[in-house]
Amino acid sequence: MHCIERTDHDMDGMHYEGVIIRPPSEADSVLLQVTVGCSHNKCTFCGTYKGQRFRFKDEAIIQADLRYAARNLSFLKRVFLTDGDALILPQTRLVRLLTRIREELPWVTRVGLYGNAKSILRKTPGELRELRELGLGIVYLGLESGAEEVLREVRKGVIPERMIEAGRRIREVGLKLSVTVLLGLAGRERSLVHARATGAVLSAIDPTYVGVLTLMILPNTELGRKVEEGQFELLTQTELMQELRELLSHTHMTRGLFLANHASNYLPLKVKMPSGKDRALQAIDAAIKGVVPLKPEWMRAL
Ligand code: SF4
Repeated sequence: MHCIERTDHDMDGMHYEGVIIRPPSEADSVLLQVTVGCSHNKCTFCGTYKGQRFRFKDEAIIQADLRYAARNLSFLKRVFLTDGDALILPQTRLVRLLTRIREELPWVTRVGLYGNAKSILRKTPGELRELRELGLGIVYLGLESGAEEVLREVRKGVIPERMIEAGRRIREVGLKLSVTVLLGLAGRERSLVHARATGAVLSAIDPTYVGVLTLMILPNTELGRKVEEGQFELLTQTELMQELRELLSHTHMTRGLFLANHASNYLPLKVKMPSGKDRALQAIDAAIKGVVPLKPEWMRAL
């Protein structure tokens, strides 16, 4: 799942189509739309690009947006390429694009994008290194769950082993990797299985950042319909906290940050791994016991 957050900066002169989303950490980035929609677009919980046919954007329009950004957005030092899966672009196109970003916006220090396991594994390590040398700095990968049955159920279209392979490939070529996981995605019965398996996959990948989001049900999705028909049980706040606890205790990272500070979460956490883990587990325990207040429902957002 990706984070639905737009930008505070005025990008009115850019050519956007459909819904534009970005990770929270890209709040101060130029949002450059290079694809429209998501190349997968089948996840049962995701309504972001429903009805949107995936396609590459016209290079002349991208070039015009780059010129606009050069004139009006030079105070932004990062670029984030949207939409859902910009890494699926052919290598020659990405090379051309990153080269143009360097030419038009020479002050940019990092380019980021979303990549799914398939689009990452379609690139050889050599190709990914070439992109890194041209300015790509970070890839955001939506893992959602490390449990095979959960990935199958939500139609993520990939097995955990491929997620691990993809995540490791990004790390091995020296790119930063941010992996998103989704609390509540497995429903009640498989909650702890989901948490443990997700922790195991995160440990195997050892990413730079983990971003924990909490499932929010969207009415225009298959999962939304299942909830309406009583076929999917949503977790209570306490159950979500228990799932978060299980996830964090099974996540072994050698460095980096474990972040549960997205607007969809009930208990905001920013954990420096591995040193901050024990304290974070204590904070979650306190929340489960009701000692620490949780965010009220009306304050949660995608
Ligand atoms: S990969 Fe799945 S969650 Fe991500 S944008 Fe596409 S459909 Fe949505």
